[in-house]
Amino acid sequence: MRWSQTFIPTLKESPAEAEIISHKLLLRAGLVRKLTGGLYTFLPLGLRALKKVEAIVREEMDRAGALEVFMPALQPPAIWAKSGRLETAKDVLFHVKDRARKEWVLGPTHEEVITTLVADEFNSYRQFPVNFYQIQTKFRDEIRPRFGLMRAKEFIMKDAYSFDADDESANASYRRMYDAYARIFARCGLRAIPVQADTGVMGGAHSHEFMVPAETGENEVVYCESGDYAANIEKATSQGPATATPADDCGNSEKFETPGVKTIDDLAKRFDVAAERQIKTLVYVADDKPVIVLLRGDDQLEEAKLGAALGAAALRAAGDVEIVKALGAQPGSLGAVGVDGISVYADEVLRGGSGMVTGANDDGYHLRNVNIERDIAVGDWADLRQVQAGELCVETCQPLKIRRAIEVGHVFKLGTKYSEALGATFLDENGKSVPSIMGCYGIGVTRTLQAVIEQCHDESGVIWPTSVAPYQVCITALDVEPESEVMKLANLLYDELRAKGLDVILDDRPSRPGVKFKDSELAGFPLRIGIGERSLAKGNVEIKPRVGEMILCSPDEALGQALEWFDANRVEA
Ligand code: ATP
Ligand code: MG
Repeated sequence: MRWSQTFIPTLKESPAEAEIISHKLLLRAGLVRKLTGGLYTFLPLGLRALKKVEAIVREEMDRAGALEVFMPALQPPAIWAKSGRLETAKDVLFHVKDRARKEWVLGPTHEEVITTLVADEFNSYRQFPVNFYQIQTKFRDEIRPRFGLMRAKEFIMKDAYSFDADDESANASYRRMYDAYARIFARCGLRAIPVQADTGVMGGAHSHEFMVPAETGENEVVYCESGDYAANIEKATSQGPATATPADDCGNSEKFETPGVKTIDDLAKRFDVAAERQIKTLVYVADDKPVIVLLRGDDQLEEAKLGAALGAAALRAAGDVEIVKALGAQPGSLGAVGVDGISVYADEVLRGGSGMVTGANDDGYHLRNVNIERDIAVGDWADLRQVQAGELCVETCQPLKIRRAIEVGHVFKLGTKYSEALGATFLDENGKSVPSIMGCYGIGVTRTLQAVIEQCHDESGVIWPTSVAPYQVCITALDVEPESEVMKLANLLYDELRAKGLDVILDDRPSRPGVKFKDSELAGFPLRIGIGERSLAKGNVEIKPRVGEMILCSPDEALGQALEWFDANRVEA
């Protein structure tokens, strides 16, 4: 491609709308343009990189034995009603109406569609295992679309769905996808770490997310330096802290006045009750019913763990009015002593705690000498707290660390939730009708592309790994007169490099050298071959890797040098 013949609108400044570096570079390097919040147009350069990521994904899915299909994005709500997600996924579902005013939904994911297909077409154990995948546009009504392609309303996902006749085979399907994902991200030049993930309401089954460490990531990963443990904070556990220590002497609970105390901290400072001696009381609404959640005062609730413990489809913190209605007091004086008629979920750390302090459900009062098991009707105990950095790993006994990361992929053993709901049953070896065991596997293709930029850049621009670079070589001609020696050599190298299978762009714009070099760096092409009148007169061509030292060579050596560099900088799985 000749630069003058394509459209690469580079920008000197970052548009104000972009908050994170990869979003800024997507715009500055002329890869995408925003239509409106959460909707982007891929420009020629961005599309080339996207197609390269897609090709890697496709090759690895094919290699893993998955079969490519293409499903409708427009879907009948009836199948969503069958799975229950018309209600449970209602927040992300886009609805559209046709001319007859009939409702349709735009697919945020495709379990319902693929399971309907398998229900119709697969009826004997002999037909399994099977894994279908597609690369397709998804629609999600995100509350907060942001960071460019990272969280968009419309984005490209690779989604795969495995169906197996027995559990062992389902685990093997899961493993195949897990391994394929590791290869895909490595081939994209991305460092993506598999971490244990929350399995949510479905429980039991296993799940991993592939996370790209990045300060701007929206997830938190708890990990152990040894590399033997990594989990999404929504799922992570630790050894500590120990359970609440019982007090030496714990008489009956008694009420005391705590005027103006609103927080754990207030009580700690003004009444000398350490946070770990306090019981934190939260009120949530799960599927329209209030529940009380108890944690040690110095702990934070992990909502995903509460959601899993409750098995609730919809979960939210109660508002002040709901709280007063449930407990008769304002936040600051809440407690669970003597409460009945509302389910109480307590964090495991509180087990055996006595001599604790909690709100009295009377504004401006607390209770001391509380013995949890004696005074509170705890319905369920569960791990509900968020792990804190420095606590010890359950597997390695080493201190845990926490860092932010971008979720680029997700593998999930689903079990039979969808196959049961949508009737994807088959006859097993004994002629018995049983549901197939499913797994689902997603890669955010557009998010992955941006994650590459988030991980691979410097102050001058993108640094594309050679595997996903829109062009691998940029030939920068500094004299663009068609018959000049410079252009003759540039054209020759262009043809030769392309004949060797490389993607080449020839910068034939009549711009100043500085502008051309800057644009090439901003766009992140892995190798630049600079050809100028003066250096050529001295018999020199400049080969400049995007990162690394300039190589000076003669025109005859240029092709060999470039090929050698690519050999040494191949991105392997
Ligand atoms: P998130 O927690 O970031 O909202 P998710 O867990 O809901 O994502 P999945 O349903 O697991 O997403 O979808 C598979 C993959 O699709 C994700 O791992 C992510 O890479 C990508 N993805 C999900 N939502 C978006 C979005 N709004 N924009 C771009 N990519 C997305
Ligand atoms: Mg996910």
